[in-house]
Amino acid sequence: MGQAAALPGQDALPDLPSATASVPVPSSTVAPTATAPATTTPSSSPTPAATPGSAAPTRARASAASARTCPAPRTLAQLPGAGRRIALTFDDGPSPISTRPILEILDREGVKATFFQIGENAKEYPQITREVARRGHVVANHSWSHRDFSTSSPAHLRQEVDATTTLLQSLTGERICFVRAPYGNRSTGSDAFLEGRGLTQIMWQGDTRDWSGPGTSAIVRDALAAPPRRGASVILLLHDAKQFTPKGQEAGRQTVAALPTVIREYKKLGYTFVQVDGTLFPD
Ligand SMILES: [Zn+2]
Repeated sequence: MGQAAALPGQDALPDLPSATASVPVPSSTVAPTATAPATTTPSSSPTPAATPGSAAPTRARASAASARTCPAPRTLAQLPGAGRRIALTFDDGPSPISTRPILEILDREGVKATFFQIGENAKEYPQITREVARRGHVVANHSWSHRDFSTSSPAHLRQEVDATTTLLQSLTGERICFVRAPYGNRSTGSDAFLEGRGLTQIMWQGDTRDWSGPGTSAIVRDALAAPPRRGASVILLLHDAKQFTPKGQEAGRQTVAALPTVIREYKKLGYTFVQVDGTLFPD
């Protein structure tokens, strides 16, 4: 593992397209072009002032929201700074099955996390996206349809990224500052595009492969093996994918079952839980 694991070639859900395709979804929820704001988003900066509904869900968290200013865009393979800090990240949601149980566990443990959501899932389950933000977690961009950025045309990148940013900002009232490329697959062109959008890319060190349903104990084991060296910071990759296949549902159950142990074991090791937000960046 070590440093090489910081930039893996895949993160998750090679089975997501088929699982998604098996679920009947109104056509209006799956076409990124229907909501793509390509013509309304500036090419060189994010659009905080244009955030729809910015006053609604953030009233009780004004200080937290104001702390979440976007850092200068970059690609982050590990948390900046030193010390025993862990960022729990959940990809591919929101899920009507596992996201709320995960939120309950995080509340119970007093932990805030970061959710890299897929636009088409957020459009189908907007109330769950709102709830994630309302409970104080960071919502971030994971493309509209889990498309591979490294092989996407500029037009597809605009659709995948801009439509998702616009939707997530409208649902959360928060500026969307962070993005994770599906499978971790990037290209020079996609890096430049995302930087132009003011989005910081977040990679990870620890991949539990929880999406594959490896078993609760295996998820716990791999999660705790995630730091490349003892005491180092870690960005841990977990999933709250929208899954309706029996295998996918079982994987979601395993993530939920493993999460309390993962959190408590990291607490025992003296780790502090952090979110991926602007407070991580001193500059
Ligand atoms: Zn993913």
